[in-house]
Amino acid sequence: MSTNSRKRKGVASPSDAAGGPTAKKPRATKQTKGKKAAQEECAPVWPEYFNSVFKVFKALNTVLAFCSSRKNFAITFPVVRTSVESLLHEPLELAKVAELKALLPEIVKFAYTPRVELRIHSDQQVGQNRRERSPDFSAFRTAGASSSRNDVDEDEHVLVLEFLDNARVTKSSNTGFAYALPPALTPAATKKLVERRNNRFVEAVNELLNAAPAEEDPVALLQSAARDHIPVHPGCKDIPEASEADLKGKYRAVPEPEERPAITAVIEEIEQQACYQEQIAYKRVFEAREGQSAILDPPLSGSVAQALCHSRKITSLYTHQVAAINALSQGKNVIVSTSTASGKSVIYQVPLLQFLEADPQSTAIFIYPTKALAQDQRAALEQLLCSCPGLEHVKVATYDGDTPQDLRAGIRETASVIFTNFDMIHASILPHEDTWRRFLKNLKIVAVDELHYYYGIFGSHVAQVTRRLRRVCAAVGNRRTRFVSCSATISKPAQHMRNIFGIENIEEVTEDGAPSGRKDFLVWNPPLKDPMDPSLGRVHSMTEATRLMRFLMARGVRVILFCKIRKSCELAMKTLRQELSADGRLDILDRVMSYRGGYSQEDRRRIEREAFSGNLLGIVATNALELGVDIGVLDAVIMLGFPMGGLASFRQQAGRAGRRARDALAVFVADALPVDQHYIHNPEELFDRSTSDLMVDLDGKVILEAHLQCAAHEMPLTEEDEKYFGPNMREICETKLEKDREGWYHTHPRYLPYPAKHVSIRGIEEEKYSVVDVSRVGKPGGIAQVIEEIELSRALFEIYEGAVFIHQGLTFLVQEVSHDTKMAKLVRSDVNWITEPRDFTNVDALQTYRIREIKGSPHRAFYGRIELFTLVYGYFKLRNKAIIDAVDLDTPPWQRETTGMWLDIPKPVLDLMKDSGMNPAEAIHSAQHAFLNRFPLAVDLRTECKVPEKEYKASTSQRKRPARLIFYEPSGKSGGVAVKAFDHVNDILRDAHERVETCDCEEGCTACVDSPSCKEGNLVSSKPGALIILKALLGLPIDVDLLQQEPGMVSDAFDTVVEATSVRVAEGVEVECA
Ligand SMILES: [Zn+2]
Ligand SMILES: [Zn+2]
Repeated sequence: MSTNSRKRKGVASPSDAAGGPTAKKPRATKQTKGKKAAQEECAPVWPEYFNSVFKVFKALNTVLAFCSSRKNFAITFPVVRTSVESLLHEPLELAKVAELKALLPEIVKFAYTPRVELRIHSDQQVGQNRRERSPDFSAFRTAGASSSRNDVDEDEHVLVLEFLDNARVTKSSNTGFAYALPPALTPAATKKLVERRNNRFVEAVNELLNAAPAEEDPVALLQSAARDHIPVHPGCKDIPEASEADLKGKYRAVPEPEERPAITAVIEEIEQQACYQEQIAYKRVFEAREGQSAILDPPLSGSVAQALCHSRKITSLYTHQVAAINALSQGKNVIVSTSTASGKSVIYQVPLLQFLEADPQSTAIFIYPTKALAQDQRAALEQLLCSCPGLEHVKVATYDGDTPQDLRAGIRETASVIFTNFDMIHASILPHEDTWRRFLKNLKIVAVDELHYYYGIFGSHVAQVTRRLRRVCAAVGNRRTRFVSCSATISKPAQHMRNIFGIENIEEVTEDGAPSGRKDFLVWNPPLKDPMDPSLGRVHSMTEATRLMRFLMARGVRVILFCKIRKSCELAMKTLRQELSADGRLDILDRVMSYRGGYSQEDRRRIEREAFSGNLLGIVATNALELGVDIGVLDAVIMLGFPMGGLASFRQQAGRAGRRARDALAVFVADALPVDQHYIHNPEELFDRSTSDLMVDLDGKVILEAHLQCAAHEMPLTEEDEKYFGPNMREICETKLEKDREGWYHTHPRYLPYPAKHVSIRGIEEEKYSVVDVSRVGKPGGIAQVIEEIELSRALFEIYEGAVFIHQGLTFLVQEVSHDTKMAKLVRSDVNWITEPRDFTNVDALQTYRIREIKGSPHRAFYGRIELFTLVYGYFKLRNKAIIDAVDLDTPPWQRETTGMWLDIPKPVLDLMKDSGMNPAEAIHSAQHAFLNRFPLAVDLRTECKVPEKEYKASTSQRKRPARLIFYEPSGKSGGVAVKAFDHVNDILRDAHERVETCDCEEGCTACVDSPSCKEGNLVSSKPGALIILKALLGLPIDVDLLQQEPGMVSDAFDTVVEATSVRVAEGVEVECA
């Protein structure tokens, strides 16, 4: 407990979180050194009034300690009040409790909570420690049904009084994971807890007395602070008279967006808050910038100028727009790579209009990464064409998988512009080029938005599709097609453009001429829970992020909160729901929504519209909103944790706030994970480090062959086509295609009649499970409603029987899962726990197809067939991150095969690590990430991440894993990536070794052994361990310094790694040279 921090908490207002600004808090003039010091050196004399408050606190403390030892006891105020009154022999006033809350705002919870939140597990469980086999649904059926979404009585709130200092959390030795079920508190422990809380109260009073200015009466100070802490019933729409006077009233009504305070003022206010404990670890300001316009040469025609003015109010163009449009009219291709990319659509549309004016037969293809974006842009283009004299009748159409068959012929014959995607070009347009001749012959411009979206395997496929498109266009006599693209800031835009389209003559535009407002960037490190005891760790980033979000929304600042994964997105939404209702801010809650993959298309469009119209104050989203879906103007971005997509993703998210003249805020709230903490210590890197190049593999034979089979079907190939497909083409054609007597290559008959059907450019679409809300089935007019569709690979971990499923922050219980019909039935049920699957995935090498020498080393690399075996064997129920129950499940295991590569760790090295007390699991995990970090196509490769709950478990693990670095392709996405890693294993290993050895970080960072996309947050890691493994595999001598750890530190329980046994080798495999 820090005196320093609590000093500021002394008489905090409840508006710390979302209510409003507080009067400046009194600060102590005298520095105290700690708990003891505070009591001994400057224990002030207490005015009598405080002794009476203490008496109330002690009574309350006793009653609450008793209550908390009863697991299933809802601690409502009326219940507590009766008991406290019988102890005190006097009435307990709300005002008195509010004073306690004012003194200990972080510990005392005194607020209205929805009644349904208090429902706890079925009563049979009381006092029993048995693990139940399957959940008891009978207890929920009625409860769930009566509280289904439409029926929830928002006004049904109860006043709750609790302590929040987590008495029940048990701490395990290594990672802070509470693994065992928390035991009920023993009487002795209860006594200790009561004492501890009483001591905290004494400290709080002492601090208040020390901090109060001499001229102020501490009693009056406390009473006035307490007024803000009297809970307001959420159903109470009118603000009580009493609070009008105080500052809290100022933000009871959320300001209109135009009237919101300036961001600088908001930041200042944050720093004045009681809960502010130096969380801002770093600040950077990007100053406002004036727009720079320029003149087009040649100028716009009168009608295009008029159309821009009428439909967009655009009268002048920014420098980057002018540079792009000029270059296109000079016959060049263009890539615009700017941070905000304002006014991108003009860059695509103006040239189109110019082409159409010059030649009404002109056609164009527009490609956007998401359907939503394409729909927005199509509407905007139609509007522009309508206002352009002479072009009103130009036909624009969407041509994608959802376009009905009977409309397709009409589009082919008459449309001038199509909004489509690469999948359609690959599988529908090019294979039927004969019916698309008119269109392809006149194709003047191909506009591809968000070019940075295309990289890795998908990008490599797209690169071949564009080459096929150019080849077919040329064959019908069209060699004039221009390509234009915009992207986020990427490291080598022109090179990426060249890779994707196979074109030269590219103009690169990187100067952004659009105006932009000032932007404040904060790096936010959650404070230690207890500065006197850092081992307790930091306050959870979710708590900090949602608190910040409520604070901003209450001030009319429109916020988007980015979460790393779907689950945290829903948990954040749930937290906001609870906190906003506890604060009585249903007006704000009504204007917050979550947005993520899995939601139905309909729901997503609805949320986008709400956001765009400015109705929403807050959106909680995953990176599904990272790409430019236009959701209107946002004032602030909060990033909860460093994104899995790395720096590029980070900058993309940060860029979502702020436009034009308005000031904006971006906050990165760091998790406790090593990657996040790395950026806390090196925040400059967030802005200044260059992102890695976007990789596109143009030589990969697997992908190239697939597209050559398609291309040959579109038109037989000749040697001349090397100019499209590169030097590897001929060899593949000779070996894999059919050559006729004139020397033309044709598709191998195996792929006929539709070779495109054999190539999925996005990998195989996974089977999906329907998630159905059946809460209202059986009630009048009630029907089952599909609320989400979930891919098989997620379904396993999210919808098992008994799981708590969260949708829009509302909880549902999974009642029944059918793996035959791929359907899960859910009932709406407000439970106050969440569930976490207990599962493992074994990645096992089954058969070796290829073996390769490692240069200068006696060891080998292997490539072959791999089996993935996933078992969800149960789940935990968690409340406040503590496990309250463990349930076993009989879910069938999920097995599938894929390809991958592996490297076995030699037995002597394994023994050496074990003998010197190193944890081999840590070493293997870090070495795997070090390897992937040096492999350009790593986004499409997976590894077996080590799980802290298993590696640091107190008891021996039954599941032993071979000492092996293993990498595999996610099943259904085979694109020859693993074979690529295998082919380059020597270079990658050497590169990884050098990087780890020379990296000057202390315990590992994202440049060497950590990965932002590690499924387990890099918690099991060892930089020296990784180095030993890399050296061993390369046959390099191992430095004894690396081993200097205390022998015997690792107990047998950590022994989860055993020697790798050799894998069956396919017939006829020969060892390839390094
Ligand atoms: Zn490092
Ligand atoms: Zn990992």
